Amino acid sequence: MPELPEVETVRRGLAPHMTSRVVREVCVRVPALRWPIPADLSECIRGERVHQVRRRGKYLLFEFSSGWMVIHLGMSGSLRWVDAQIPVRKHDHLDLVFDHGLLRLHDPRRFGAVLWHDRIAGPVEAHPLLARLGLEPLSTPAEQIGQRLYAGTRDRRSSIKAVLLAGDLVVGAGNIYACESLYRAQIHPATRGGRISLSRCQRLAVAVRDTLSDALARGGTTLKDFVGSDGASGYFQIDALVYGREGQACRRCAGTIRRVVQQQRASFYCPGCQH
Ligand SMILES: [Zn+2]
Repeated sequence: MPELPEVETVRRGLAPHMTSRVVREVCVRVPALRWPIPADLSECIRGERVHQVRRRGKYLLFEFSSGWMVIHLGMSGSLRWVDAQIPVRKHDHLDLVFDHGLLRLHDPRRFGAVLWHDRIAGPVEAHPLLARLGLEPLSTPAEQIGQRLYAGTRDRRSSIKAVLLAGDLVVGAGNIYACESLYRAQIHPATRGGRISLSRCQRLAVAVRDTLSDALARGGTTLKDFVGSDGASGYFQIDALVYGREGQACRRCAGTIRRVVQQQRASFYCPGCQH
């Protein structure tokens, strides 16, 4: 599943191709994604210029004069910038055709989404899918994220791992990155959110930022895989400190990494140094 660093890498790869360029054609092959691709998408954006390509959480926001095309990659989606003569493959559901190439959405499992948010409906941040998203980890100071984590968990009974996965305080810490961040912050994933002190929340905020920044820095080298024309769409292979390392030695204390299941998701942690 593409996570926030992958989506940010896609954004950085696509923006130079699309910014200030005009959409000439919209080709919808399979509208049935998580929600149907809007039947009037072509009417909304054909002949219109892309002003900018932004990101909020894992949503890509393509801004036009009349509104925003919002894309989520779901479980298996990928977006590539390709030459017009590249043949269509199975599961290539949508093309946006420009003069100098095209944007192609590929999604075998079809959990992704292509939505339209008209400017009449207000800023795109007010879209129901975006309105409740937490702080952006890469562009918000760690101190502010730490304060939000602290204030937002005082009355919460759920585990800190569940708090991170919920994404309403800070976005971007999906299952793997949540495990990695908690390991770096030396916080046990099952600790109740409301029991974590402000200083530990601050440490966790730094850990989330560092984990995602590191993944983004590594992913930068695989940028071509996301937007090139070679058909590759692999997601980042992170060099995990704790995720997937059950039974192996902790790199900090040499204790043994354990695996537990929380909310049907695997958590990996070191009982020696995460409390
Ligand atoms: Zn350890």
